[in-house]
Amino acid sequence: IQKIDKQTVRAAVEAAYDRCKEEQGGKNADYIPYLAGVPSTLFGIAACLPDGDVVAVGDTDYVFGIESVSKVPTAILAMDQYGAKEILDRIGADATGLPFNSIMALLLEKEHPSTPLVNAGAISACSMIRPTGDADGKWRAIVSFIADLTGSEVEVIDELYRSETATNFNNKSIAWLLKNYARIYDDPELSLDLYTRQCSLGVTARQLAVMAATIASGGVNPLTRKEVFKPGLAPKITSMMATVGFYEHTGDWLFTTGLPAKTGVGGGIMGVVPGVMGLAAFAPPLDEAGNSVKAQRALAYIAGRLNLGVFGTT
Ligand code: GLU
Repeated sequence: IQKIDKQTVRAAVEAAYDRCKEEQGGKNADYIPYLAGVPSTLFGIAACLPDGDVVAVGDTDYVFGIESVSKVPTAILAMDQYGAKEILDRIGADATGLPFNSIMALLLEKEHPSTPLVNAGAISACSMIRPTGDADGKWRAIVSFIADLTGSEVEVIDELYRSETATNFNNKSIAWLLKNYARIYDDPELSLDLYTRQCSLGVTARQLAVMAATIASGGVNPLTRKEVFKPGLAPKITSMMATVGFYEHTGDWLFTTGLPAKTGVGGGIMGVVPGVMGLAAFAPPLDEAGNSVKAQRALAYIAGRLNLGVFGTT
């Protein structure tokens, strides 16, 4: 385990903030109306170290839509409830090389959703969460698991939830296709609603950094010291993030930074450096694949400066 002191991390985070704050590229997601209205200039970076120290610069306490980053906690919870092998068998752990909302991600793998970190597999994962058949119970399980990972409470942004529910036609099709292929394990409407609600949860960059640090620490939350999930699952979820965290840009991202990370169309990115730290950045404008432009640049800079790539130093 590589230990990096807090001052070194702070200097890197501050430098990343200064270098990226003027970046003008990208555009807020607009297929979900709420996201189009979030101020585009917001920008924050946070790092959480194994002893629970958090380094935070910029808008790290602004509450934004977690979106696809929520696929990570639900995948861990499903693995915790069923075991990693069962998730591999029922959903998969393959890179898709495809956009987040791809219906092909489901069809190409021959009636298999590929991974819980794209929409098809994430809806399937939501369907598996226990207690099955009990919408409230499942929701409580997901929200309390996320609260354990972040060490603090999280709540749905109601306007975002309404906005997503009114426009999620593509995801509705995915849910029913999953049903057609017997790859959904609870009521499709219930599973889709759960997925939509989890995407609408509000989080801060600080919370995502703690969640990432909990994964980096093998499932023990560095703030609360609680063992949130079974230690053997950390490498499993980290490998999934590495293979599909940036959708069709995942290979380029991993090649460039060596950092397993997961993005969301709300503008958040969460990066896991196993045994070393959790990282998060937030800025709403996205590139064409749906990944935050500024947050990517900031995390890539920090990963390079601190040599955080999991494949070694370049
Ligand atoms: N709620 C979004 C959707 O399903 C999440 C997408 C994302 O963050 O990539 O369309």
